[in-house]
Amino acid sequence: MFNEKMYALGSKRSIIREIFEYCKTRGAQIGSDKVFDFSIGNPSVEPPKEIEETICDLLKNESPVLLHGYTSAQGDFGTREAIANDINARFGTSLTPNSIYMTCGAAASLTISLRALLNSGEECIVFAPFFTEYRVFIENAGGKVVVSKPQEKTFQIDTADFESKISESTKAVIMNSPNNPSGVVYSEETISAVCEILKRKEKEYGHPIYLIADEPYRELVFDETPVPYLMNYYDDTIVCYSYSKALSLPGERIGYIAVSPKMEDSVNVYLAVCGAGRSLGYVCAPSLFQQVIKKCVGAKVDVNVYKENRDILYGALTEYGYECVHPDGAFYLFVKALEDDAYKFFERAKEKEILVVPCDDFGVSGYVRIAYCVDKKRIVNALPAFKALAEEYKK
Ligand code: PLP
Repeated sequence: MFNEKMYALGSKRSIIREIFEYCKTRGAQIGSDKVFDFSIGNPSVEPPKEIEETICDLLKNESPVLLHGYTSAQGDFGTREAIANDINARFGTSLTPNSIYMTCGAAASLTISLRALLNSGEECIVFAPFFTEYRVFIENAGGKVVVSKPQEKTFQIDTADFESKISESTKAVIMNSPNNPSGVVYSEETISAVCEILKRKEKEYGHPIYLIADEPYRELVFDETPVPYLMNYYDDTIVCYSYSKALSLPGERIGYIAVSPKMEDSVNVYLAVCGAGRSLGYVCAPSLFQQVIKKCVGAKVDVNVYKENRDILYGALTEYGYECVHPDGAFYLFVKALEDDAYKFFERAKEKEILVVPCDDFGVSGYVRIAYCVDKKRIVNALPAFKALAEEYKK
């Protein structure tokens, strides 16, 4: 008999994928321009021009072995060096190439890190609302998910609740800011408070509690909102990064893990990361894109496109009577459903061809996520339907 747990995961798609697939079918029936698909976080902004230019240049001038052959298991040395230097220059850290492990995006960064850190039965705390796949990744690493609830309305971390969730079995904490699905950026005050609690608890229990910073949205912030770099607040930090959203390259599967050199046992933790990568078969991230990243490490997408979408959508929805937290980053709006059951609200929105994601699986019920990484036209065209839906509920 094959593995029942894997069968269960494979036979039930994530809610986001489920809705995304429905959108494709519905689009084929009535025309894709009539379906207001806000389900998936697929970046709508083009990758920076220099990405395409660099790919062309590499293909023309570099050897096939460099571009298409194996690299070291942990990634090309020059790419890891370029990334370490870039992080050091931006955040005043002292990473070396041997702090960096190249991965196939943030999902791989997370699964490798969790596998490297967790022993069977150990706990990993996640802050609600959280990316749905955390549960899959943690449980697959043999860990137990512990959910910390957020502050009402602001969706910042509730530090008192967080402290109450830490136990002797806590081995890791995942923090995701800017956050999927709320778009909230955790304030420096919140982060300092969380890190102080962690330091105290490490002392009390006499073992490290690792902070995993899941940062695919780090570069997607508006109005110069600061995103504190967690390694500068807490030594036992591992950063899981990805270029999927930062450079609009989700299909290329490229990212990295950075292990803080300030961690007491950082060399051995890095080796555990290498071992976890090996055990999961995540060695040698795509070679061509490692070379692209080496040359484009400072490239940026135009976040103003997302900011404009946010402003239109947030402005209109709050005017129609929807309640939502003002997002400072990522490309999601976290909206209170107009009835208690977010699934029922989802069904009513679907009747108007609006596809949003109910957030119960993100650890908060009664909310939906709107991914506004779409063409501005889709947002503008969807507004009358959002308005009509709100008016229906008022009747
Ligand atoms: N973490 C969060 C919070 C995400 O939203 C996503 C993707 O949407 C991932 C991780 C996975 O990113 P990647 O596509 O780079 O694997």
